[in-house]
Amino acid sequence: MRPVRYIRARTVLEAVDAFAQARGNARYIAGGTTLYDLMKLGIERPTCLIDIATLEGADRIDTEGDRLFFGAGALMADVAETRSIVRDYPLLAQSLWKAASQQLRNMATVGGNLLQRTRCPYFRNGAAGVYPCNKRDPGSGCAAIGGLDRSQAVLGVSDACNAVSPGDWPVALTAMNARIELVGLDGARTVSIDDFYQLPGSTPHIEFAMAPGEIVTGITIPKTDAGRRSTYHKIRDRESYAFALASAAVALSMDGDEVRQAHVALGGVATRPWRASETEALLQGQTLTYERALDAARASFNGARPGAHNKFKIELGARTVADAIMIAARGTNHVA
Ligand SMILES: Cc1cc2nc3c(=O)[nH]c(=O)nc-3n(C[C@H](O)[C@H](O)[C@H](O)COP(=O)(O)OP(=O)(O)OC[C@H]3O[C@@H](n4cnc5c(N)ncnc54)[C@H](O)[C@@H]3O)c2cc1C
Repeated sequence: MRPVRYIRARTVLEAVDAFAQARGNARYIAGGTTLYDLMKLGIERPTCLIDIATLEGADRIDTEGDRLFFGAGALMADVAETRSIVRDYPLLAQSLWKAASQQLRNMATVGGNLLQRTRCPYFRNGAAGVYPCNKRDPGSGCAAIGGLDRSQAVLGVSDACNAVSPGDWPVALTAMNARIELVGLDGARTVSIDDFYQLPGSTPHIEFAMAPGEIVTGITIPKTDAGRRSTYHKIRDRESYAFALASAAVALSMDGDEVRQAHVALGGVATRPWRASETEALLQGQTLTYERALDAARASFNGARPGAHNKFKIELGARTVADAIMIAARGTNHVA
């Protein structure tokens, strides 16, 4: 049994200060649905937990201003059920309600969702030293490369890591050009979601552009009419309560049948939420057909680097994107 100190913070500054005083061995805890798992597996071993679940105002959801705002402490279930989000940004609502289970979504926060760790089986099951993992034990190697890699990434892979970025919500946020608000000992700053997630390269243990002790306070999204023609399309081994094999977040601005602007991001296939820039560029100004959507979708997989058992993700991923584009274009993808 290892003793763990528990602190309930009342304000963001109190939380940041408590983290600094714990000298690097602290973790923030929100819903706890990921962190407690990782502690039980021996992957996370904090000596101090700083509870940020009840920080005042942390669960604020604001859809009234010139941008959408989600406090990091807002529950996944609450955001997924916000009526104006369901109506005007179905991709955001769907990315949340297609994730995890209702019980988990009632506990888990949208801030914690951003920071969840990979579900790579070698990362999660090797804490006792059975499998090397550069993400868990930097420099130890990667058992997934050349191992059982059916669920691993094909995009953004390096010689050190091919673990999939697991979250659904970050994929939708990437398509919507979200910005992440952070507060640390040095003050407040915002970072674009593209800069927030790191490629593994030779340092797969560095996943987020965060300084030690920084706290995510909120997420903002510029408002866009493209939200109305949007979808989050998630393909998995079973239809609920499973992580994505491939997913696509798509939002379209259309002029009749012509695409004025496309927002496309991929999940389940890459080491970070993946902006499908090639697909977006090929769709712009085009009259939409399924064949064109599939050609554009395939372009985002040109740099794919599959292993022995996950080549299928290239075709599955492209077809998932193409289907999502056609669903989004219909603009009838609303849940009442
Ligand atoms: C069985 C199961 C199935 C799941 N399926 C899916 C799925 O299909 N799709 C999907 O996207 N997710 C899935 N999840 C993951 C789930 O969505 C996450 O566990 C959840 O979103 C994490 O939120 P939390 O508030 O519980 O985070 P916590 O567990 O409290 O924290 C997670 C991490 O974030 C840090 N943290 C939390 N909040 C902040 C903050 N504001 N600032 C700085 N650091 C912070 C913590 O220190 C910790 O490292 C699944 C989880 C389980 C257990």
